[in-house]
Amino acid sequence: MSSTVFPSTHSATTSNAAAARIIVVGGGLAGIAAAAALASAGIRVVLLEARSQLGGRAGSFEDTPPQQLLDNCQHVLLGCCTNLIDLYRRLGAADKIQYRNRIHYLDENGRRYDLWSVPGLPAPLHLAPALAVFGALSVSERFAVRRAMWAMLRLGRAGRESLANVSFGLWLKEQRQPERVIRRFYDPILISALNEQTESASGKYAIQVFQDAMLSHRQGYMIGLPACPLEELYALRPCEDVRLHTRVSELSFAGNRVTGVILRNGQRLPADAVVLAANYHAVLRWIPEHLRRTDSRFAHLDQLQNVPILGAHLWFDRPVMRLPFAALFDSPLQWLFRKDDRGAALHGVISAARPWVDTPAEKLMLLFRDQIRRLFSVPEAQVIRYRIIIEKRATFSPQPGVDAYRPSQAPPPAGVENLFLAGDYTRTDWPATMEGAVRSGYLAAEKLLASFAPAGSERRFLVDDLPPEFPTRFLAGKRV
Ligand SMILES: Cc1cc2nc3c(=O)[nH]c(=O)nc-3n(C[C@H](O)[C@H](O)[C@H](O)COP(=O)(O)OP(=O)(O)OC[C@H]3O[C@@H](n4cnc5c(N)ncnc54)[C@H](O)[C@@H]3O)c2cc1C
Repeated sequence: MSSTVFPSTHSATTSNAAAARIIVVGGGLAGIAAAAALASAGIRVVLLEARSQLGGRAGSFEDTPPQQLLDNCQHVLLGCCTNLIDLYRRLGAADKIQYRNRIHYLDENGRRYDLWSVPGLPAPLHLAPALAVFGALSVSERFAVRRAMWAMLRLGRAGRESLANVSFGLWLKEQRQPERVIRRFYDPILISALNEQTESASGKYAIQVFQDAMLSHRQGYMIGLPACPLEELYALRPCEDVRLHTRVSELSFAGNRVTGVILRNGQRLPADAVVLAANYHAVLRWIPEHLRRTDSRFAHLDQLQNVPILGAHLWFDRPVMRLPFAALFDSPLQWLFRKDDRGAALHGVISAARPWVDTPAEKLMLLFRDQIRRLFSVPEAQVIRYRIIIEKRATFSPQPGVDAYRPSQAPPPAGVENLFLAGDYTRTDWPATMEGAVRSGYLAAEKLLASFAPAGSERRFLVDDLPPEFPTRFLAGKRV
């Protein structure tokens, strides 16, 4: 890791906060964002991470042999991820993301269809030409999509909120969306964006994907892919004191205050406030029963459901794929990414991968190899190396009603008063994504500082959404 440190550009919000000992537990994107935000306010913060590198689920690992840095899984962002992009800027990594405005779709025989945006046109007109000629759907199916997009536009933010407890499947039925449209249009976008089946996801989160990525601002649709291993995005430390290989095993409490953390090696680190940015499984282990009863943030955490994601690194004996990436109709692999210039190294992803978790790796590899042979007409291509990673607890399910289980970052009135939560599972109004994780980290930092600062002097780290462009504002009326 580089020894460069993210610079502090602001003085402390108050002398109290500046003198406080603040610990952030967990160096995934939520913890990195919280630490970077606090450090930028002049706070001395210690970031503790159990692993040898930062990044958490959006990180890399060393594959041996042959000593190669591999990502846990391909990570994709969109132009509407304003807070993630802000964090990359803070970390000096923004120029390591490559953006594209064209998604390639391949059907089971390798026939290609593209969905692109017209750079000069404002939203939602920028996608209209591509949708009008999107050959993967029949003319009447394209009309059905247009009808649903129009309905989403008119719903606005308040309308999607009202669908938080309703399944998107029900909404699609009300909008008379044909089954084939669901398979060929909604599934490729939503299953990967939400890590849940299209029809069982909450209407709120499904519609948010289309509103924010396609209907609001032309930048929202830009598809960002890191041009380096994920780990390299975190080369610049978010704060001065980053301690890797440092596993927290317990928190210590006095009354309804957290007093510090106890490391696995027995060392105690006192703290005036703690941001817990580990996943919710760890958080549940650390909060004693009596505090779980008084701090409502922990009451429903065990109701969040885990959904797995499967990532397949495949190396072929010859070039097989020329496109940089493609969405695939009809599983098993749902998305494919080219990982080298030749097109011989590929990465495939299956989201909402529940049916595959117990399938032996070799069987999966053969299945994927055959799918890729068919797609690219390379019947002789052989897989010379592969690595299949199934993250069983990849993300929580954005099922209808899930917001009731998601805790706020700040403590409720009777809660642990100096304990703040960050993590994609906390209440951010985003599904479990890198953007959601960064938002949670910024929110936790804001709320922690507010707990030290006099009223009225709060700091804001959260970055605004892309503003809806004129045609959207006009068409949606007051609803956006
Ligand atoms: C396979 C996969 C593919 C994904 N693809 C995408 C994608 O394409 N686009 C997208 O936006 N999102 C994607 N996501 C979701 C995204 O990765 C997560 O939402 C985000 O990274 C979560 O960040 P976090 O900081 O909340 O949690 P985590 O990344 O889980 O961070 C928690 C950190 O806490 C550390 N920790 C845990 N216990 C301790 C302890 N006892 N002591 C110290 N440290 C501890 C962990 O090591 C970890 O670094 C994907 C997730 C997975 C799993």
